[in-house]
Amino acid sequence: MAIEENENQNGKQDERQAAPAKGEGGAEPAGANENQRGKQDDGQAAPATNEGRAEPARANIVWLKLPDYLAMVRHARELAPIEDCGLLAGTEEGGVRTVEKVFYLTNVDHSAEHFALDPAEQFAAVKEMRAAGWKLLGNWHSHPASPSRPSEEDKRLAFDSKASYFILSLNGGEPVLNSFHIEKQTRVSKEDLRIR
Ligand SMILES: [Zn+2]
Repeated sequence: MAIEENENQNGKQDERQAAPAKGEGGAEPAGANENQRGKQDDGQAAPATNEGRAEPARANIVWLKLPDYLAMVRHARELAPIEDCGLLAGTEEGGVRTVEKVFYLTNVDHSAEHFALDPAEQFAAVKEMRAAGWKLLGNWHSHPASPSRPSEEDKRLAFDSKASYFILSLNGGEPVLNSFHIEKQTRVSKEDLRIR
């Protein structure tokens, strides 16, 4: 099943069973995670969407519901080779983020290699999530033909170091979804994304 494949490809299965202390996929330099966790020193670079929150900049755990994951994969496959994209809304408590709704937005770039969220749809989505009592947790987009990691363009456009950036790769057939924390548009680390 897709989820099992995903876990195997990411090498996350053992970490989950062992209740990871670091939550990293192993690709980051040692210590990077510790430096980022719980610090508020990047607040000046954050946009208004997440201002004033007391939560750590980097999520400890990100939960995504299985039906939402499956719907995201289906939607992204239908739109391929164009990149699919949207917003993630939900709750956050003690660094644990729970995605309650995945918003599907129009990629106004209509591109296979990059995306831009439709501004009017973005506005409407944020309005809806606030009415529901949810926070904007981050955004997501698909990589129809490249791996699940931020491109140079993705990093350059990652202005919110408090956001979770989901990247769904459809490269190679089996979907792979990761959540990333991107610090100062340069330092990338994988968040502990769990699907259930
Ligand atoms: Zn990308």
